[in-house]
Amino acid sequence: MKSPEMYLECVSCGKTYDPWDLRYKCDCGGILDVKRDLSKIDGEELRKLWDSRWGLKRGVESSGVWRYRELILSVPDEMIVTRQEGNTRLYPAGSAGKWAGLSDLWFKHEGENPTGSFKDRGMTCGASAARRLGAKSVACASTGNTSASMASYAAVAGMRAVIFIPEGKIAYGKLAQALAYNGRTLQIQGNFDDAMALVQDVCRELNIYLLNSINPYRIEGQKAICIETLQQLDWQVPDWFVIPGGNLGNNSALGKALMELHELGIITKIPRIAVIQAEGANPLYTMWKNHTEFKPVRNPETIATAIKIGNPVSWPKSMRAVTWSNGVVEQVTEQEIMDAKAKLDAAGIGAEPASCCSLAGAKKLRDSGVIGPDEKVVGILTGNILKDPDAVVGYHQDTLMDHYGIRGTFANKPVVIPATLDAVRKALGD
Ligand SMILES: *Cc1c(COP(=O)(O)O)cnc(C)c1O
Ligand SMILES: [Zn+2]
Repeated sequence: MKSPEMYLECVSCGKTYDPWDLRYKCDCGGILDVKRDLSKIDGEELRKLWDSRWGLKRGVESSGVWRYRELILSVPDEMIVTRQEGNTRLYPAGSAGKWAGLSDLWFKHEGENPTGSFKDRGMTCGASAARRLGAKSVACASTGNTSASMASYAAVAGMRAVIFIPEGKIAYGKLAQALAYNGRTLQIQGNFDDAMALVQDVCRELNIYLLNSINPYRIEGQKAICIETLQQLDWQVPDWFVIPGGNLGNNSALGKALMELHELGIITKIPRIAVIQAEGANPLYTMWKNHTEFKPVRNPETIATAIKIGNPVSWPKSMRAVTWSNGVVEQVTEQEIMDAKAKLDAAGIGAEPASCCSLAGAKKLRDSGVIGPDEKVVGILTGNILKDPDAVVGYHQDTLMDHYGIRGTFANKPVVIPATLDAVRKALGD
């Protein structure tokens, strides 16, 4: 099957551009979407083609992103920078589902990607676009996972990675990865939003390709989370997708994937999207709840550093996805995030703090009656449990109160005992 032609279209004014024009925004300042004419595509044929690629052992299409290449990016194989990303598992929620009061809750674990977060899905696409454009260097501002992913893909592609991270706390596992994959790591004096503003200037002035989520090709790659989940469900559409929202690229991608699958007739039912933000970094929630204009949060604060973002670039695309799907936006407290994390971890699944907004949000929406007890719900787990060991150990040692005001409600404290059989017996209560 021939891939449909791509073009770029402004989300604000509708102006179109050649896909290989080097630009991230419209002349009017609006953000860009990758568009395709899907009217000549036979959805049924396309679905069969994707199913025929399931389980391929090698080659570009064994990737859980490039399996769906017709809706991802039109580039020749030799330009594709891939680590066989995607192909992540879809877990029944087990005891975490019981805790949330949901009988049919599932988790799509994007922390099982090559660098431990869903960012790899967008990055394979962004890095391939960079190669197609002949870039020698790529850059991003990041709360951690984007930089870990970009450094890895740049290394695979033989490109230089330039990373801007905010000063202060960035999760240890993520910083370690950026350094380990040989990214040039610049810790700037400011928060994520400052880093984001700076990197855009730097890329323009120094001729570096920008791989932040403003990059429309990253969104295309992230659509594969949704497509792969539906394929794992034999194209049976759940009632809800619940997903954390930070810079809001991922829920935009989820919405875009659903819109395209719907246009192609591959799905007929539209699931509702619930975007979950941390209370201390909640500009989309505030806008949605109060029907107000978008207003950035000046000093975002949350232990879930991956979503500690006050001025998300993708909010117009995100709002479009929520509205189109008759979705909702919810916020959760620090305590709710970490208690949900304890339950998700103890269910044997495990994920980093930001990911656990999916469970915290699903429970909150069940408690308030927005989600019914037997509705089919898929939560997206965005990052790996090992990304942020400090948060885990802090919770279980119950030392997060001073800094974050978080209690170790379900703490599983380590116990120190003498090295005797008696002491073990006592400790185990046997
Ligand atoms: C990037 C990231 C998010 C937020 O995704 P956005 O697209 O920025 O909304 C959430 N969780 C983790 C683990 C992430 O790495
Ligand atoms: Zn425009």
